[in-house]
Amino acid sequence: MESEKTVCGKCPICGANVVKTLKGWACADSLLSEPKCQFFLFSTVGNRKLSDSEASILLSEKRILLDGFATREGKCFSSILSFNQDGSVNMSSQIGNCPKCGGILYTGPKSVSCGNFKRQENPCNFTIWRNIGGHTSVS
Ligand SMILES: [Zn+2]
Ligand SMILES: [Zn+2]
Repeated sequence: MESEKTVCGKCPICGANVVKTLKGWACADSLLSEPKCQFFLFSTVGNRKLSDSEASILLSEKRILLDGFATREGKCFSSILSFNQDGSVNMSSQIGNCPKCGGILYTGPKSVSCGNFKRQENPCNFTIWRNIGGHTSVS
């Protein structure tokens, strides 16, 4: 009988197919009797469950912006997931550089804002509201 494992994407380390397992997504080459690869993506990242479609976007585009992560204090945050060189998941809220001042842009649940907004001298007010009313506006 054929294996019914669904292929969800490509392994970021070796490029083999990634299949769904009970606890997450595994490189097909890690399931061999003599594993050639160790890649495994747990289905829970940062106290948040990844859906199948989120995992396949992450596996095909190598990064995804997700909301709804929770800190231990229960605070909600957004994060960009990507892979480290060893295939482990890297979480970052830093999504790039501010076009106004070159500071670091951080993503939050509602907006992307510049990390320099709090600085004493010459604070930066760059903010992008994310998808409010179906469009993105820059202020
Ligand atoms: Zn692999
Ligand atoms: Zn800025």
